Amino acid sequence: MNSPTPSPMFKKIALVGIGLIGSSMAHGARKHCLAGEIAGYARREETRVAAQKAGFADSLHDNLESCVKDADLVVLASPVGSFAEIAPQIGPHLVAGAIVTDVGSVKMAVIRDVGPHLPEGVHFIPGHPVAGTEQSGPNAGFAELFEGRWCILTPPPGADAAALEKLKTFWERLGSKVETMDAAHHDLVLAITSHVPHLIAYNIVGTAADLEEVTESEVIKFSAGGFRDFTRIAASDPTMWRDVFLNNREAVLEMLGRFNEDLSALQRAIRWGDGDELQNFFTRTRAIRRSIIEAGQDIEAPDFGRSQKEKDTD
Ligand code: NAP
Repeated sequence: MNSPTPSPMFKKIALVGIGLIGSSMAHGARKHCLAGEIAGYARREETRVAAQKAGFADSLHDNLESCVKDADLVVLASPVGSFAEIAPQIGPHLVAGAIVTDVGSVKMAVIRDVGPHLPEGVHFIPGHPVAGTEQSGPNAGFAELFEGRWCILTPPPGADAAALEKLKTFWERLGSKVETMDAAHHDLVLAITSHVPHLIAYNIVGTAADLEEVTESEVIKFSAGGFRDFTRIAASDPTMWRDVFLNNREAVLEMLGRFNEDLSALQRAIRWGDGDELQNFFTRTRAIRRSIIEAGQDIEAPDFGRSQKEKDTD
C-alpha cells in the first residue's frame, strides 16, 4: 500500500520576482515538495515566457494581486529598490496568517520599506540567502543553489515565533543553514563580506578598462587569476547592485573608510619597502582563507576548472 503523500509546508508560494533567486527557490520547493502551488510575478513578458519554458511555476502573473492571492508564503525576490513600490500594492491582498519574507541583500531598508504596508495578522520575517552567482534571470536558477549556504533571517522585535520557526524549516529543507540576526548587524557584516568586495571588483575592472597605457585587448589577454575573478564578480547584475549600494549606504561607507585606511597602510609599506609589514599582513589574510575552507564555505581547488555552481558571489 502506498503511504499518503505528505502535505506540503505551504499551500501556495508567491514569488514576486523570478530571477536567479526566485527561480532557484521554486526549483528547490518543487524538488523537496514544499509547495502545493507556486505562483510567479514578473513585469516583463519575456521574463514570464522564459519562466514558462523553464517550468518551475504553476502560474505566472503580470499582476501582483493575482500572484499573492491566497498565498501563505509571499517572497519578495526582485531588486531591493523595488520593494517600496511593491509592498503597498500587495498589502491589501494578503491573507491573515500569511508569512511575508524577502531575499534582499540588505535588511534595514527592507524593514523600512515593507513593514509599514503589511496588515495586522500577516507575519513579516525578512531574510537573505547568502548564495548566488553572477548570472541572473529565470534561466539561471537551480534547486541546489542554497545547499550548504547560510540563510540569514532578521525578524523584527516581536515577530511571531511559530512563523519564524516555519520559515527557518523551509530554508533548511532547501538545504540552507539558518542564522537569526539583528537587521543592522546583518547590514554591517554583509557590507564587508559582500558589498564592499563587489564595489572593489567593479572599480578595479573599470580602472583597468580606462587605463590608457594598457590596451583593452591586453587586459583580456593577460587576465591573470586575480583580475579574472574580479571580472566575474563585476559581471553581477547592475540593477541589483545599484540598489544594494543605495540601500546600505551607511554601513558600506563605514566599511569603505576602514578599507581605505588599511589600503593606505599597505601603500605606505610598499613605498618605504617595509617587507615585514607586507609579509605579516599577507600571512594574516592567508589564515582567513584557510578558515573559510575549514568552515566548508569554499574548496581548496584552484579556480581553473571549478564548476559554475561552486562560484558564489553574494
Ligand atoms: P534577477 O535574476 O535579476 O531577477 C530579478 C527578478 O525581479 C526578475 O524576475 C525581474 O523580472 C523582477 N524585477 C526586476 N525589477 C523589478 C521591479 N522594479 N519590480 C518588480 N519586479 C522586478 O535578480 P536576483 O539575482 O534573483 O536577485 C533578486 C533579489 O535577491 C535581490 O533583492 C537581491 O538583492 C537578492 N539576492 C541576490 C543574490 C545574487 O547573488 N544574485 C544573492 C542573494 C540575494 P522583470 O524585470 O520582468 O520584472
